[in-house]
Amino acid sequence: MKPIKFLLSCASIGLLAACTHTSMDKKEPITGISPPAVQESFKVHPDLHAHTAEFEKKVYPLAEGVYIAVGYGLANTIMIEGDDGIVIVDVLESQEAAEEAMAEFRKITDKPVKALIYTHNHADHIFGGRGFVPEGDVDVYAHESTNYYINRIVNQIRPIITNRSMRMFGNLLPKGDEGRINLGVGPFLDVGHGGGTPTLIRPNKTYSDKLDLDIAGIKIQLIHAPGETNDQTMVWLPEKKVLMPGDTIYKAFPNLYTIRGTLYRDVMDWVRSLDKMRALNPEYIAPGHTKPIQGAEKIQEILTVYRDAIQFVHDQTLYGMNKGLTPDQLVETVKLPEHLRNHPYLKELYGTVEWGVRGIFTGYLGWFNGDSATLSPVTIKERAQGIMDIAGGEAAFKAKVVVAVQEGRYKWAAELANHILVLNPENVEIKELKAAALRKLGEQSISPNGRHFYLTQALELEGEAEMEKEAVTDAKVAVAKSFPVKNFISAMPTLLVPERSINNHKTMSWIFPDVQKSYTLEVRRGVAEFREGVDDNADIKLTVNKDDWVEIILGEKSFPIALATGDVKLEGGIKKLPELGKFFAQFDLPNK
Ligand SMILES: [Zn+2]
Repeated sequence: MKPIKFLLSCASIGLLAACTHTSMDKKEPITGISPPAVQESFKVHPDLHAHTAEFEKKVYPLAEGVYIAVGYGLANTIMIEGDDGIVIVDVLESQEAAEEAMAEFRKITDKPVKALIYTHNHADHIFGGRGFVPEGDVDVYAHESTNYYINRIVNQIRPIITNRSMRMFGNLLPKGDEGRINLGVGPFLDVGHGGGTPTLIRPNKTYSDKLDLDIAGIKIQLIHAPGETNDQTMVWLPEKKVLMPGDTIYKAFPNLYTIRGTLYRDVMDWVRSLDKMRALNPEYIAPGHTKPIQGAEKIQEILTVYRDAIQFVHDQTLYGMNKGLTPDQLVETVKLPEHLRNHPYLKELYGTVEWGVRGIFTGYLGWFNGDSATLSPVTIKERAQGIMDIAGGEAAFKAKVVVAVQEGRYKWAAELANHILVLNPENVEIKELKAAALRKLGEQSISPNGRHFYLTQALELEGEAEMEKEAVTDAKVAVAKSFPVKNFISAMPTLLVPERSINNHKTMSWIFPDVQKSYTLEVRRGVAEFREGVDDNADIKLTVNKDDWVEIILGEKSFPIALATGDVKLEGGIKKLPELGKFFAQFDLPNK
């Protein structure tokens, strides 16, 4: 087979998008390929560009005494002014973001903060508390499950959720046209690298289905309304006809599935929550994201198309599923009808129909698509080799990738590149071609979530994006200490390395006298069993206060020093140290 020359010139391939890194980087073009003569016409989907106007930093007066601040963080924050105090609904993601919004609210009134209300557990709604209440206690209302979901932030899949969130929110991309335009539901997220200070004031007043409140003379109803999260609360002011729906409606197609990874979001619960909202007949909506809405008729229309769009995707996915269609087939058949597709509240500027369809299929049926050819498929190496053989060898296969990029078939190019990378993971030319294809897919993506994921992975392929470990700050230590210490112990079993533990059987108990809790891990030949309580026969028993232990695992406190000062007590004394060292050596611990 005659090898096809891979290093093409742009003269021969015209508008080859793969010729150059067209977006944020200042890198040299791919080796041997010159930049194209004509620039591609867009780098940002025009609808996504226009959507930025939605997040103009501004406080909107809504009904009497109700003000919504948009653009200060990823989410909105709302102030309700009563006779002798104010209530804040959602507190943004950082103290700094919250302080900036509060400074604007303070131009309106200097009445004291009587209460905070959290519509749900997501970080962009709960971590700015101290920006509104700098010190001391305050009543914080939320659904009874919100604390549970906050606690889940520290869990066994934290590392991968963090990485995928960083990609989805574009944390590693520059701001502006070259990278992050907006985040679909807000201008930016003030967390992570270089971001603001997280401060968490925990919910301390909770309810299950519905709660009627009278705070500072304001009648407030909290109503459980699951949607984007199970703990979602809608806040209703019956006298003012103002609805605060949390994240149940915003000006973008709903994120029925989030690509950072999530448990199944019951989309019909979401529809039923929207129906509860329609029944209230609100005259104002102060949403968790995007601008407020006024006018009962307009609101009814928007709530109705929103719930119809979700139900349409749900029902049509189930219709196709029952006919035996696979997810790949369903995404071809389930398309919103025109009146919904073109509605300004349903543009795919955050979630997409395709991700929703796949999420619903998986939510009901799990991973198996129903075709037994996929039940136990060939290995990815065998598949890659087989396709390469069909293509006529590696050189011919590479040429196919180039042609796919050249023809603007970027999804196909990325998929083909994957097969070559399975066989040769360090093939720089293919990595750069795949990066070029991903970059074009990112530029074409109307959803910032998709855009950021594509663009970030393009940078990662080029070795230009490192998921750095975040610095541990005092604020982060304080937030970590507010989590149950149980989370840190119960997360350990999935860090156990079988090769290091397969022949062992050792048990360790932790005793935390300050919180009167104790936990045990029994490592038994490749498995670490977590239990509550002390095991009297444990090989190792460690007594330590909760906060000291959190500082030790965050690397803020030295274990040997803590042992020497008596902050940590090891039963049996220091002669037990080697055994303790061996116990921990069985785990792949991040701070070791
Ligand atoms: Zn949100």
